[in-house]
Amino acid sequence: AKIAVLKETAPGETRVAASPETVKKFIGLGASVAIEKGAGENASVADADYEAVGATIGTAAVVTKDADILLGVQGPDPKALKGAAKGAWLVAGLDPFGQRKRVDAYAAAGVEALAMEFMPRITRAQSMDILSSQSNLSGYKAVIDSAAAYGRAFPMMMTAAGTITAAKAFIMGVGVAGLQAIATARRLGAVVSATDVRSATKEQIESLGAKPIFVENVAGIEGEGAGGYASEMSPEYQKAQADLVSGHIAKQDIVITTALIPGRAAPRLITDAQIASMKPGSVIFDLAVAQGGNVEGSKPDEVVIKHGVKIIGYSNTPAHLAADASALFARNLFNFLSAFWDKEADRPVLPDDDEITAAIRLTKDGKVVSERLL
Ligand code: NAD
Repeated sequence: AKIAVLKETAPGETRVAASPETVKKFIGLGASVAIEKGAGENASVADADYEAVGATIGTAAVVTKDADILLGVQGPDPKALKGAAKGAWLVAGLDPFGQRKRVDAYAAAGVEALAMEFMPRITRAQSMDILSSQSNLSGYKAVIDSAAAYGRAFPMMMTAAGTITAAKAFIMGVGVAGLQAIATARRLGAVVSATDVRSATKEQIESLGAKPIFVENVAGIEGEGAGGYASEMSPEYQKAQADLVSGHIAKQDIVITTALIPGRAAPRLITDAQIASMKPGSVIFDLAVAQGGNVEGSKPDEVVIKHGVKIIGYSNTPAHLAADASALFARNLFNFLSAFWDKEADRPVLPDDDEITAAIRLTKDGKVVSERLL
């Protein structure tokens, strides 16, 4: 099989879908790998690094020509797929809800589009899950960049000139990103608290040495929906949560919000009035800013200052850690493709009745086939 890796074209996208390590492993499986010139540049991977492990480097057209599998971080312009083999696979984070028209175009182009963010949350697929690998880094980066924007120190310091008190950090949403945010803020010396709608996270928060802030005894407390994702909460629960958070947030220096609900706008967790209650100089990092934001007034890739509070959020947080984010993303793709590799066919083969196939396959034989898009 010929595997092609294109240079990402989306604005601000710095990652690349293959690393020298995964290229070497693909070649070990018997594949050939072609990489567009400069594809790894922004992630600190030189063309020579790919060549050294056996990849060929070329223009987009040469790389795509007769490719059986195209790897991407994001989905390419459907026009870029011209020249690929008939029925070629496109394996990437395809943003199926946000890029619905593109999915139609992939179908029309005869490409089999496989959306890696639809990977089911089952044990077998854990090592293939781009949402987990990228969220983990995002949670880390949110704390690091909040610390940089904060005009004070995180740890308590006792100095000859006097004592500096520890920063108070509050993490809202304790999924993969939130757990890493808790751990990172703790490492930097902050006093950390956290909340979530899934009560199962309470123990996880405690085990990381942080304090759980939870709504108790309200209908709809069990916020666990399908597949371990959060579901939307009852109005009663939302009101109780808002009251609890209001009291807590006024005392916080750093707030990191991470709450997402798949396929819908992010829930609003922090209002302008709550921001106004915080101390000037506090920092809020909205990891959901690209999905509409958890924080009132947050804007992607801007530092918004409201009531003296800095509100930060990136449209693409993992792109701010391009080297590590690429290395893990590339491994997710390799783990997926190698798990289905068929030596005789000289390529991966996806059984129609496999749970993973059903979840991630968006298009096949010219049609959109994903249930989530029909
Ligand atoms: P996510 O990115 O979907 O959401 C982030 C967190 O925000 C979640 O914990 C969610 O419950 C929380 N949240 C949603 N609405 C909220 C609200 N109104 N207020 C407060 N918090 C709110 O979550 P995620 O990182 O994808 O993780 C979700 C779960 O799935 C975790 O338990 C994780 O361990 C699990 N998971 C399993 C696998 C696997 O088995 N392959 C892979 C990844 C994640």
